[in-house]
Amino acid sequence: MDDPAHIEPLFTSDEIGARLDGLAHDIAKTMPQDFVAVAILKGSFIFAADLIRALTAHGLNPEVDFMTLGSYGTGTTSSGTVSLLRDAEVDVHGREVLLIDDILDSGRTLTFARAHMMAKGTKAVRTCVLLDKTKGRAGAIPPDFFGFDSPPAFVVGYGMDHAHKYRGLPFVAILKA
Ligand code: 5GP
Repeated sequence: MDDPAHIEPLFTSDEIGARLDGLAHDIAKTMPQDFVAVAILKGSFIFAADLIRALTAHGLNPEVDFMTLGSYGTGTTSSGTVSLLRDAEVDVHGREVLLIDDILDSGRTLTFARAHMMAKGTKAVRTCVLLDKTKGRAGAIPPDFFGFDSPPAFVVGYGMDHAHKYRGLPFVAILKA
């Protein structure tokens, strides 16, 4: 870690672990046995790994795939355009899909991913994010499932990066200026 003074813990790994179990419980009540979980890379990779194992512990056995979308570059503000860097491979036609992402902020990423999946003829698309930054924001499309409300700060850790660093932190932290 080059500068731990700039890291302020927000959610501990114990808090995340406990919340994952609740999330998996809610998802298991809503999703059918036969669904496709699509994790949006890269920021969701640790969250998705833990969530999918929690779903398995709750009796689900989804097909798992990944898609890579780009928007943030290496800064802390959105570039505003979302691009598809790598598509999922599973045939989602007629299937129920759960999109898994790290953070819902402007909503552009999930709106893009949802539209992309629906254009492939999915039966239904639901969304699950670890952090929801949209609380109280007018016009925001809420996720179907979320782990925590997040303040409007730039966060890192638990898979989330700043310029490709900090992904290995076992907790979520605010990156201070
Ligand atoms: P949106 O498209 O909803 O504005 O942004 C969602 C994407 O932007 C997330 O999947 C994530 O990759 C990135 N993002 C948004 N806020 C943050 C943040 O605070 N920290 C990090 N590391 N990425 C963020």
